[in-house]
Amino acid sequence: MLHYTCDACGVRLDEQRYVVKVEVAPAIDPEIISEADLDADHLEQIAEILAAGDDIATEEDRQGFRYDLCPKCRDKYCRDPLGKNSWRQLKFSEN
Ligand SMILES: [Zn+2]
Repeated sequence: MLHYTCDACGVRLDEQRYVVKVEVAPAIDPEIISEADLDADHLEQIAEILAAGDDIATEEDRQGFRYDLCPKCRDKYCRDPLGKNSWRQLKFSEN
């Protein structure tokens, strides 16, 4: 049987397990599509622009992360997904 452990605190996850999936990819600027482009005549052009956008965001630019969390670490993560609080604490301890 497959056992999971919390990727944050290492506790064994028997019943409740939360999965965090994060994908980081370059944003495609929506401004490249103007309102005029939304005319039916231009739909083909838009499709081309969007296809080109996909090419810009290559697999190298994309990064995906997946973590298993226990309920406690899930709460912690949801309160501070970017870890801003821990960065602030780090800065304080440096000074
Ligand atoms: Zn945990």
